Amino acid sequence: MAIESFNPYTGKVLRRFRAFSWAKTERILAQAARAATTWRDSPFAERRRLMHRAADLLRERQHELARLMALEMGKPVVDGRAEIVKCALTCDYYADHAEEFLRDEEIKTEARRSFIAYEPLGVVLAIMPWNFPFWQVIRFAAPALMAGNVGLLKHASNVPQCALALESIFHDAGFPPATFRTLLIGSELVEKLLQDDRVKAATLTGSEGAGAKVAATAGAQIKKTVLELGGSDPFVVLADADVELAAKTAAQARMVNAGQSCIAAKRFIVDKSVVKPFVNQLKTHLLALRTGDPLDEATQYGPLARPDLADELTKQVEDSVKAGARVELYGGQAKPGTALFRPMILANVKPGQPAYYEELFGPVAIILEARNEADAVRLANDSRFGLGGSVWTRDARRGEAVARRIESGAVFVNAMVKSSPEMPFGGVKKSGYGRELSYLGIREFVNQKSIWIA
Ligand code: NDP
Repeated sequence: MAIESFNPYTGKVLRRFRAFSWAKTERILAQAARAATTWRDSPFAERRRLMHRAADLLRERQHELARLMALEMGKPVVDGRAEIVKCALTCDYYADHAEEFLRDEEIKTEARRSFIAYEPLGVVLAIMPWNFPFWQVIRFAAPALMAGNVGLLKHASNVPQCALALESIFHDAGFPPATFRTLLIGSELVEKLLQDDRVKAATLTGSEGAGAKVAATAGAQIKKTVLELGGSDPFVVLADADVELAAKTAAQARMVNAGQSCIAAKRFIVDKSVVKPFVNQLKTHLLALRTGDPLDEATQYGPLARPDLADELTKQVEDSVKAGARVELYGGQAKPGTALFRPMILANVKPGQPAYYEELFGPVAIILEARNEADAVRLANDSRFGLGGSVWTRDARRGEAVARRIESGAVFVNAMVKSSPEMPFGGVKKSGYGRELSYLGIREFVNQKSIWIA
């Protein structure tokens, strides 16, 4: 794939970049490996100071960074600024807590003293997607750098300016230059990097296919990976739910980033007794949303990030309709090869249709009718994915019990799924493995070393 900024709203190429050669990539890797040997011994106070500075820079630059996202992948500027503020919050969070999360942990044994020490691994390669161009990277980079690791970023080929802006943030904050570098490379050089001994581990957020390839290469080299892949999150509305609030939240949860979020609600599993009012209200909320130029402050959802993603979504919808799904709300692409995709609702979705078992990475809500609570849980778990889930009921205890039975990395009761720095984030099944954020996230790329003093 060409490395270029392409505005999905105007259909115009903004800038093309020449991909780094292997020779250039290898030079940067050598610098990163050298930096890792000193950065690992830097005092926490120094790391903390620099990470707070990175947070300040993110806040200062929120307008220009939001504009970059609007131009490169179509995110409305209002949402872009919110993304940057969340990034700043997460930098502050790890600046404040990393030392405590990685403090030696005394363990009682027969030894005179025994404890776990958390030591950095070295150079970690991050392969990141375009949907939250800053957030996905920061939630890796903030804990990794605070743990004393060094980051190399291979960002998605359609967000090169965001990738370079991220490098500038850490550079301008005062981090030693080689501790965080952006590599403008295609995915073909990723394999070579993973095979190089100087790369110690990798993290990937993206599709199942990309995750499987990267994990296979890293696995052959006995290297640790964290994978955060797709999701087809269930949004379960039980018979006793506040249907009005559920439908309003459902529209928001489906339309996060124009539907291009791994934790967007995708399968609406609704008790048959409330399905009619739920769908009617969901329809009303979806129709009320305003689309337009992502640079416009009033725009609530923009185009999809690339026209090919919209073409792919159209195909999934068409194939599902051919196989029996019913269109409850007409929307979709105006014509092939364009990125704007208006919200849609599909009902009568059944096993065998793409909408039932594939991830729909865009604004298409699917409705599955449940006979009762047990049937709702069965439908929720009848998925290859297991990232997030949401349960709606007026009975909090019932909500908790259902939450425990859903096979996923997170379940929210009476709220939409979201990530926050304090709580672990990640999936089970084909949604990946490992955790980001919280104290668990910072412990993924460290050597959890047992020290025993007899
Ligand atoms: P990809 O998974 O292809 O891209 C994500 C990242 O992986 C990019 O940096 C990409 O680089 C890289 N990559 C892709 N293939 C390889 C490979 N073989 N080896 C190493 N790196 C690789 O996502 P797409 O952009 O194609 O989107 C397709 C689908 O992926 C979406 O429709 C959605 O289902 C899912 N997705 C999930 C995301 C999530 O948040 N979990 C985010 C984005 C997509 P390059 O851009 O150069 O190809």
